[in-house]
Amino acid sequence: MPTIGVFALQGDVREHVRSLEEAGAKAVPVRRPAELETVDGLVIPGGESTTMWKLAETFDLLEPIRTRVKGGMPAYGSCAGMIMLADRIEGGIEGQQTVGGIDMTVRRNAFGRQVDSFESDIDFAGRGAVRAVFIRAPWVESVGPEVEVLALAEPGDRIVAVRQGPLLATSFHPELTPDAGVHSYFVEMVREL
Ligand code: GLN
Repeated sequence: MPTIGVFALQGDVREHVRSLEEAGAKAVPVRRPAELETVDGLVIPGGESTTMWKLAETFDLLEPIRTRVKGGMPAYGSCAGMIMLADRIEGGIEGQQTVGGIDMTVRRNAFGRQVDSFESDIDFAGRGAVRAVFIRAPWVESVGPEVEVLALAEPGDRIVAVRQGPLLATSFHPELTPDAGVHSYFVEMVREL
């Protein structure tokens, strides 16, 4: 059984732990660099990306996470976590940094300008419909050639799920619904690598 860490300095950590366990992984909270070393993959939860960035710096986790992601560790980010995995962001605060790794530009609070939160059924990775919960969600403005688009959502057929090698990101929060399909997809990715 793979051991998957959940970045636990900010965000909806418990919900991801539950979904990962449902998907057949051992889930452990990660607050310290030493804890990061023990995991086969990492989930960065939904929450607030500016706060995540600042806390990750304060607790000396930003560089260690970057190093492991560069080294090929699988990682999955939902919502704020998607922002953390983006190489480029729009609508960030001054100086806002990310972990990076996915060659994409993500626009913060993009859907939020139209409607703060909403749910819809979307086709994820050709696996049929999943219930997607969007909360002040980003969308993906553009992706590089290595990035696979896994899901689009209305309004506007926006890109809301992507994969680049061992990195996965969704604008929505599968951890807030009982269906563990997206987490199972990630656990399979971790098993394959
Ligand atoms: N708007 C948040 C941010 O920019 C993300 C929202 C979420 O994770 N639900 O970090």
